[in-house]
Amino acid sequence: MVSQCPGAINIRMPRLEVKNCPKCGEEIEIVSNESSAKCSKCGSVIYNDLLSCVEWCEYAKECVGEKTYEKIMQELSKRKQEEH
Ligand SMILES: [Zn+2]
Repeated sequence: MVSQCPGAINIRMPRLEVKNCPKCGEEIEIVSNESSAKCSKCGSVIYNDLLSCVEWCEYAKECVGEKTYEKIMQELSKRKQEEH
């Protein structure tokens, strides 16, 4: 039995988080298993840092499930392309 890391709990049991937009300070609601959310006021995109544990955790696939793992890895590589 693999013990759960804090990041995986957020992915397996999604909960709503409220973050502040870095640009305009507006509150942005982001579900913990979503990789990004858009500010309703200025449209800037914020990213969910919780998902990044999947990237380096060697148990991530077992931890969150193969389907979720692949979805997250796809989103993460997409995000990296956007950043560069
Ligand atoms: Zn904003």
